[in-house]
Amino acid sequence: MSEYVDRLVCSACGAAFAPESLHTVCTHCGKPLLVSYRLEALRGRFRPELLAGRVRSLWRYAEVLPVPFDAARSLGEGWTPLLPQPRVGRLLGMPNLYVKDESLNPGGSFKARGLVMAVAAAALRGVQQVGLASAGNAAGALALYAARMGLSAIVFFTGGNAGAGRVGVPTGRGAGASGARHHRRGGGGFRSVPPRASRRVQCGDAS
Ligand SMILES: [Zn+2]
Repeated sequence: MSEYVDRLVCSACGAAFAPESLHTVCTHCGKPLLVSYRLEALRGRFRPELLAGRVRSLWRYAEVLPVPFDAARSLGEGWTPLLPQPRVGRLLGMPNLYVKDESLNPGGSFKARGLVMAVAAAALRGVQQVGLASAGNAAGALALYAARMGLSAIVFFTGGNAGAGRVGVPTGRGAGASGARHHRRGGGGFRSVPPRASRRVQCGDAS
C-alpha cells in the first residue's frame, strides 16, 4: 500500500475506515468506500520527472494507488490512447476534441482499472472468492483478474441473458455466472462473446 494512503472514506456519509483491514461497503449506509490520500505530503515530494521510465500502465501512478505494483497481478491495464476526433470536434465547436479508447483495456472496458485494484487488494488480505452484480463489463473484468490472481469469482446478472452475452474473457478456477431467472453457474468459464461486444467504447470516469 502506498505510504500516502490515509484512510478509506464512505462516498456518501463520510465515515472513515482503516485501510489495512478488509472492507466491502460502508457499514453505516452501504455505499462504496473511497481511498483518501495524504496529498499535502505528496505535494512536497512528487515531481513529474519521477514518472519517466516507469511502467506504461496505470501502475505508474503508484503514489496514488492503494496496492503496490506486482507484474504478476497486472494485465497491462491503462495507458490507453487518446484519439483526435476532428470531425466530431468541428460539429461540437471543440477543435481539440480527443476520445480515450478504453476498449483497449484488458477485458475490453475501463472496468479493468478499478477491478485490478479491488481484486489485488482482496487477494493481499487473504480473500479467496470475490463476486459482484453486473450488466457485463464489470463481471468480465472481475473474472479476468480473479483468474490472474488465483481467486474464484461469482457474478450475478440482474435478469435475462443480456449481461451474460457480453462477458467474453477467460476465467479462472470456479468462475461462474448467475442471474435472477437464468442460473448459469459452472466451473469452466463464461461463454464466448462476439468480437463486436469486446470493442465497446466507454464513456465514463476513466482517465
Ligand atoms: Zn456510509
